[in-house]
Amino acid sequence: MSNLLRFKCPKCGTVQDVKGDAPCWKCHTLVTLPPDGVIQLYRMSSCMGIGSSMEIYINGILLGYLGFDETIRIPVPYGHYNVMMKFMDYTLSKYKGIGLEFDITPTNRIVYLKAARVIPGLGTNTVILEPATAEEMRPL
Ligand SMILES: [Zn+2]
Repeated sequence: MSNLLRFKCPKCGTVQDVKGDAPCWKCHTLVTLPPDGVIQLYRMSSCMGIGSSMEIYINGILLGYLGFDETIRIPVPYGHYNVMMKFMDYTLSKYKGIGLEFDITPTNRIVYLKAARVIPGLGTNTVILEPATAEEMRPL
């Protein structure tokens, strides 16, 4: 597991994982990561999940994918956020997902979220996304 930060290049829109402020690998725009807060997402492996990737949306903007048993960190400025995890339900041929809303503030700078795809019963595939603690995160 790496210690990378995910961001979307504001110029060309390429989603990439970096160690810190760096030029976009595609268009070479120097990207300064917001220093305010971090949204950390962990996709749990302790479920009957199928290993397909989940799409991550932050305030409606696609920020790449979250693989099985993967952790990512997304630096963000202070503000209100709506995180949505979506995956393709192949049996229904449509996207299913779940969202969670919260604020990143000076007193709430790091938000930990854990996601999982669970199959509680036949034909009822669903996703869980809930607040977590630092201890519940997979080590980076
Ligand atoms: Zn770029």
